[in-house]
Amino acid sequence: ETSLLRFVRDLKNNQTDEPPPPSEVTVIDFCNALDAGDITLAYQPKLTVQGLILRGVEALARWKHPQKGNISPGVFIPLAERHGLIDTLTRELLQKAFKQKQAWQQMGLRFHIAFNLSPLSLADAGLSDWLADLAQEYSIPPDEITLEVTENALLGELACAIRTLARLRLKGFNIAIDDYGTGFANAQQLSRVPATELKIDRSLIHQVATRPQQGTILASTVDLAKNLKLITVAEGVETLEDYRILVDLGVDQVQGFYFSKPLYPDDLLEWIKSGLS
Ligand code: C2E
Ligand code: CA
Ligand code: CA
Ligand code: CA
Repeated sequence: ETSLLRFVRDLKNNQTDEPPPPSEVTVIDFCNALDAGDITLAYQPKLTVQGLILRGVEALARWKHPQKGNISPGVFIPLAERHGLIDTLTRELLQKAFKQKQAWQQMGLRFHIAFNLSPLSLADAGLSDWLADLAQEYSIPPDEITLEVTENALLGELACAIRTLARLRLKGFNIAIDDYGTGFANAQQLSRVPATELKIDRSLIHQVATRPQQGTILASTVDLAKNLKLITVAEGVETLEDYRILVDLGVDQVQGFYFSKPLYPDDLLEWIKSGLS
């Protein structure tokens, strides 16, 4: 191979349709997006295991930057947290979610909405009163709202987090422990959290059909949740085989790409009409 050939080949390789390296988003980009209302919500169905009835949707933040494309919440949520902007974002998105729920209610649709709270929001002392007022403003029954907090959020400032969650429970909101199985909460810690629902992390669900040992872990997790009177939700269900195992294990609800990816409101309506629920 001559150096000229190599040069041409390298040139070509550099011109393949490999995506350009992701450009960094800055906190300025983020503030502009907040102001412009460019951060929106997609909604992923949560279905009953028995009968696959639509029980609720999980609201997931989405940001489409005009030049930089889709920015993952895995990037911009930590950015907002680092810059003290997470409470602003959270309140903005909660407002959007409640408005959307009100619109669905007016169409006669009565499924729940789940919303992810940053661990930092558990230190936002005014959150529960603010949320209760918001629910009233939009005529939304608090027991049709679920607030998801990750297992790990409950490990650090446990006492403080529990106080905020207890306030929210008193107002009637549901509480889900998210990503269960990725942290190290023990059964005793878990029993102190005023939760209503346990969301079993995708890593425990993934390929459970082909990994018997994982089935054992899953079965004991479902057992623990039942003892604590928690609704069990399996997230990240991607195959029929995994779903079948979850039926056998007695999980209450499922969520995952096998049923639907997160959808914008118009697409969710289409999905509902198409009759999967
Ligand atoms: P999460 O709360 O665990 O949300 C579930 C994530 O798994 C979502 O990713 C969803 O799109 C994805 N997912 C759902 N089903 C499947 C499946 O079958 N297979 C696979 N591989 N993935 C599936 P997404 O939307 O990128 O969100 C990532 C994380 O960002 C969320 O994880 C949550 O921790 C955080 N997040 C998203 N929206 C918000 C928000 O509004 N506020 C806060 N504080 N965090 C948010
Ligand atoms: Ca979640
Ligand atoms: Ca999760
Ligand atoms: Ca997660």
